[in-house]
Amino acid sequence: WPGCGRRKVSYEQLQRFLLDTPSAERAEEWSSYYTAGPHLAGKNYSQALWTKQKWEKFGVKADIVSYDVYLNYPADHRLALLEEQKRRDGPSAWKVSYEASLAEDVIDQDPTTGLPDRIPTFHGYSASGNVTGPVVYVNYGTYQDYEDLVRANVSLKNKVAIARYGGIFRGLKVKRAQELGMLGVILYSDPGDDGDITEAKGEKPYPDGPARQPSSVQRGSTQFLSFAPGDPTTPGYPSKPGAPRQPVHTAIPSIPSIPISYTDALPILKALNGHGPKAEDFNKYWTRNTGLQYKDVHYNVGPTPDSVVVNLYNQQDYVITPLWNVIGIINGSIPDEVIIVGNHHDAWIAGGAADPNSGSAVLNEVIRSFGKALSKGWKPIRTIVFASWDGEEYGLIGSTEWVEEYLPWLKDANVAYINTDVATRGSCLRTSAAPLLDNVIHAATKAVQSPNQTVPGQTVYDVWDKQIRTMGSGSDFTAFQDFAGVPSLDMGFESCPDEPVYHYHSNYDSFHWMRRFGDPGFAHHRAMAQVLGLMTARLADLPVISFRAADYARALGRYVKKVEDRLGEALSAEMDTVSSSLMEDDDDDAVFELRCSTRNSSTSSSSSSSSSFSSSSSSSSTSSAKSFKHSLNRLHKALETLFLHAAKLDRHADDLRHELENPGGDDDIPWWRRWPCQWWRRARLGLKVRRVNTKYKYLERGFLYEEGLDGRPWFKHVVFAPGLWTGYAGAVFPGLMESIDSEDWVNAERWVDIIESRMRNAAHRL
Ligand code: GLU
Ligand code: CA
Ligand code: ZN
Ligand code: ZN
Repeated sequence: WPGCGRRKVSYEQLQRFLLDTPSAERAEEWSSYYTAGPHLAGKNYSQALWTKQKWEKFGVKADIVSYDVYLNYPADHRLALLEEQKRRDGPSAWKVSYEASLAEDVIDQDPTTGLPDRIPTFHGYSASGNVTGPVVYVNYGTYQDYEDLVRANVSLKNKVAIARYGGIFRGLKVKRAQELGMLGVILYSDPGDDGDITEAKGEKPYPDGPARQPSSVQRGSTQFLSFAPGDPTTPGYPSKPGAPRQPVHTAIPSIPSIPISYTDALPILKALNGHGPKAEDFNKYWTRNTGLQYKDVHYNVGPTPDSVVVNLYNQQDYVITPLWNVIGIINGSIPDEVIIVGNHHDAWIAGGAADPNSGSAVLNEVIRSFGKALSKGWKPIRTIVFASWDGEEYGLIGSTEWVEEYLPWLKDANVAYINTDVATRGSCLRTSAAPLLDNVIHAATKAVQSPNQTVPGQTVYDVWDKQIRTMGSGSDFTAFQDFAGVPSLDMGFESCPDEPVYHYHSNYDSFHWMRRFGDPGFAHHRAMAQVLGLMTARLADLPVISFRAADYARALGRYVKKVEDRLGEALSAEMDTVSSSLMEDDDDDAVFELRCSTRNSSTSSSSSSSSSFSSSSSSSSTSSAKSFKHSLNRLHKALETLFLHAAKLDRHADDLRHELENPGGDDDIPWWRRWPCQWWRRARLGLKVRRVNTKYKYLERGFLYEEGLDGRPWFKHVVFAPGLWTGYAGAVFPGLMESIDSEDWVNAERWVDIIESRMRNAAHRL
């Protein structure tokens, strides 16, 4: 029994290795390797191999696991603004009034921006096409934004949308445009969304200062994330060679899209000046952070007249190509309790110093630290698996295919998954996690010194906002959490509001930017390696798994409260109150989040449209909503039981921890019975610990529902999923919430049944 007797490397010694080994210099060295050249998904074999060899050198066995996946590489593109020249005699001609460069500037100090084989600007999974039509400005392109346009009778059919990035996952902007009959989508980065660090507010752009480089372009995937991640041709099963493939039309766009810089967006936005309503005629979400007024953009919605059109040409080569995950393993004493730690290595650009290779550098340091302990004879209690995923950027492909392949094993053995994608791009810690893991985050961040020592001795925990978000999507934890039911967490240092602008998915997310602006001295890389190492150790090397079941029950209580709030919004009487109180509320961010996440709620619409919503809301649906409210009491009841059982299990776990730490027991027991490793004591205690650990291990799994969510059966978790129309931000009790949103009370009852039975079973099993 590993919790007993003398270990070659104690847990305390292991923690010292994990705190003392990570070094900023080594992290910088790994960062400079990963960011030296292009490493798109399926085009990074040398990096995968290098990673595997490094890990083996650190003392961890590793393998490359490959899948054959369907994805696209850019072939050609064009975006131009055309104006009709009427001629008195004969047909009119079209004049090109602006030809977009669609390229990012080469910066001499920043070598990877000028590589001859640098990667063009394009969208993952975008459709090939050549479309021409008038333009409509659709704000962030959220579901609500499009609704506002429809309500205002702005014509969308056969128009090209121009949307700014932000708020929700980009693929969903394209999805809604497609559903509304639009021809194509242009996505640009509005500097207003960069906060105070903008040229308009006197900051110099990169490389001379911290503001956004005006030619920077955000590449990225436009798959319909909320449908299913992974290879879109193999939803639910691994893309091994020869696997059958499904049609892709429900998973990826059929209209073309193109990402551009704000420099390229300017002429198009200016062409909209004076046409159609203005953003300010809608509501404050339309004027939130708009940043190009100083460049003479009026943010008119359009459409442009038929004589002013854009031509969007996008040519993508679709292929089936191998991807390469690197999987490392440290075998523990208990084979069927496994902790997995992962980061992706593929990037949209040559650099990727933040996304994802700050995480890759950090992961290498974590592995190097564990390697030190291994070399001193350490063997963990649980097995630790390290993963360097490929194809995250296109749609979490490497991790999803791997989870789909090893699902039975993972469901049986995987205790927790720890993810870091962008480990460092600023100094504000950002975390999301399944509630079982909250305590792990707290413990590890409290044990690591913050790189910010303005108050000497302060820890990462001290300078953190202490917020742990619910798991949404947007990185490799998704398949673990939502498909396999493995409690997961995701963590990284993001940019604080006053810190240099981070050029997400742009050539300027480079080694040079990281050294100069993102993490000078690489101190945040080091701190993140320490935190990740400690979290992994805590989960893998303490005899009793570091979960708190009561935290889960408590979180479920909070989520039920959220459901009740949503129901309150659905009751039209309350609707207006909520709406007006939110409209007066100055907490822009909270309201913006709400607006991004809700589909049918009118809380965010202009007052006129919210009153029209209220009147359309029939009294019968209101009474159904009222009667449905009682059904939620069943969840409260089930939760009470779950909480009691959870708290009892936690107490029992604490007793066992105590017993393990004080193996002698009470002083009045004779010494020979106190001997910790007496075989029967050992066996008895070992069995007890095993029983508790097994209960903890399967707790989250109990919230899976084999049929999956309505309309997206791949998502199996009844508590967590990416929001249907947010992608990144998480929804809680998604099936139930969506039924309430669509006022389908029969289905809402069905979801209460599904959730209640899971709560009761979980309580029973605890
Ligand atoms: N992290 C990537 C992004 O946000 C991939 C997300 C996805 O396709 O699921 O673009
Ligand atoms: Ca698949
Ligand atoms: Zn990433
Ligand atoms: Zn990314």
